[in-house]
Amino acid sequence: MKIVMLGAPGAGKGTQARMISEEFGIPQISTGDIFRANIRNQTELGKKAKSYMDQGLLVPDELTLDLVVDRLAKDDCAKGYILDGFPRTIPQAEALTRALCEQNSKIDYAIDVEVPDENIVQRMSGRRACPVCGATYHIHFNPPVQEGICDECGAQLIQREDDKAETVQKRLDVYHAQTQPLIAYYKEQGCMYSVDGTRTMEDVFNDIHKILK
Ligand code: ADP
Ligand code: AMP
Repeated sequence: MKIVMLGAPGAGKGTQARMISEEFGIPQISTGDIFRANIRNQTELGKKAKSYMDQGLLVPDELTLDLVVDRLAKDDCAKGYILDGFPRTIPQAEALTRALCEQNSKIDYAIDVEVPDENIVQRMSGRRACPVCGATYHIHFNPPVQEGICDECGAQLIQREDDKAETVQKRLDVYHAQTQPLIAYYKEQGCMYSVDGTRTMEDVFNDIHKILK
């Protein structure tokens, strides 16, 4: 089962991808997480990606594509995967389609988590992330048991640099211009599904579960 999660930044893609990953036993592959790990480890890729991410811009396709293709070739992807944050541009989607086609495969489900821009600002400003295990919380909607501490690994939670108010609007503009067209792209491919992402995480997950069954 190969799944692509679509939706604005902060719509809940990562939250849902994590739940799907646990339920179906397939890996969640987040390009954002991969870039952040590279920034932490101060790799060449991390240094290049950071300058774009800090401005709320997309990392160029040429830095993103090979990384994903290499990741998808790993053994744990054999039964399928959930792509969270990739593709984000039409050229990325076309490259993914081509890479899968070469293996006689395709994306089975593209799931758009629909959340209006008005709600996004609140979602992103309250997001807290674990820099160690990648778990995501929200100060109101999904708080950790102990404030500021990850439930899963005990690390100190952080606010992502690009979740600060000044970058959020830029990221939304970039989403509408470059990523939203993917909805029409996957509709054309006949695998596009939408869920109302404004409800609770559990309700959204139930809808996705029905689609995947
Ligand atoms: P994305 O991966 O699309 O950028 P996240 O999954 O990180 O988004 O979610 C953004 C923020 O909104 C996080 O703080 C998360 O805890 C919170 N969140 C996710 N889903 C919901 C929901 N259904 N209701 C309220 N808050 C949510
Ligand atoms: P995310 O964690 O998905 O919100 O991504 C954080 C940031 O990483 C984005 O704002 C982009 O700068 C960068 N990024 C993540 N995935 C991609 C991608 N597929 N293409 C380009 N940039 C990406």
